[in-house]
Amino acid sequence: MARLLGKVAIVTGGARGMGEATVRLLVEEGAKVLITDVLDAPGQALADELGESAAYSRLDVSKKGDWEAAVKKSGDLGPLSILVNNAAIIFQKTIMDTTEEDFMKIFSINQLGVFLGMQSVFPSLKANGGGSIINVSSIDGLQSKNSLVAYSSTKWAVRGMTKAAAMEMGKFNIRVNSVHPGGVFTAMHGSDFISQEDADKFYHSHAIPRVGLPREVAALTAFLASDEATYSTGAEFIADGGWSAGLVNDSLPQL
Ligand code: NAD
Repeated sequence: MARLLGKVAIVTGGARGMGEATVRLLVEEGAKVLITDVLDAPGQALADELGESAAYSRLDVSKKGDWEAAVKKSGDLGPLSILVNNAAIIFQKTIMDTTEEDFMKIFSINQLGVFLGMQSVFPSLKANGGGSIINVSSIDGLQSKNSLVAYSSTKWAVRGMTKAAAMEMGKFNIRVNSVHPGGVFTAMHGSDFISQEDADKFYHSHAIPRVGLPREVAALTAFLASDEATYSTGAEFIADGGWSAGLVNDSLPQL
């Protein structure tokens, strides 16, 4: 399929994991993608592999100046119409063990970064006749877990900012939606030190009893980026194997 032919996208955190899977799928669908990250070597290697369909630019999402440079560079690929705010970091400590510095660091990347992204691309998207912003939140932007006070607060904020931005930008033909992955097998999920088979075991009580794969979330993002999603904005799109719906209870009758 070529659902994104002629479109230009910026993907943050695009060097690996879900960001990389998203870059690859957007390119397969015909888009040109500015891959951005703070991991320059893998980001540049991915851009080199994808040839004319991609370029790489260093972008620390917490820095306004980096955003301005990236938006400018995206113009080399064509008129920008898609932003995937994917970059984030995980942090797992209790409320009592989370310092103010920890909290502000997570905030500046996961929350301020998404805000700066939406703010930075808006003039271009408006000038180009509209577009689609996809903000990657999490299952932890719908519920939470012990140890996620900092991370989860940012993911709930991403969900809320998505709705506020959707209200402001709709009249300019700009859609803003959030994507909520469950457990997905990436470096953030420990893929460097546990096997996929072991990761599956965490999800034995889920309707789909296995870990998710980056491409399964990228598929949702590609749909939202495309003109198939023209009536969807301010909404939450979930790819979590049924996690947020409930858990299978083995002590109750089942099929
Ligand atoms: P990952 O750690 O594999 O990739 C994240 C990418 O973001 C990396 O390339 C990293 O270098 C980049 N990054 C980190 N700090 C940055 C900064 N300041 N500026 C720019 N880039 C930066 O993680 P992933 O699992 O691919 O996560 C992608 C998104 O999905 C994140 O928003 C994450 O919170 C969300 N998510 C992940 C899971 C999961 O189980 N993996 C579940 C729910 C939500």
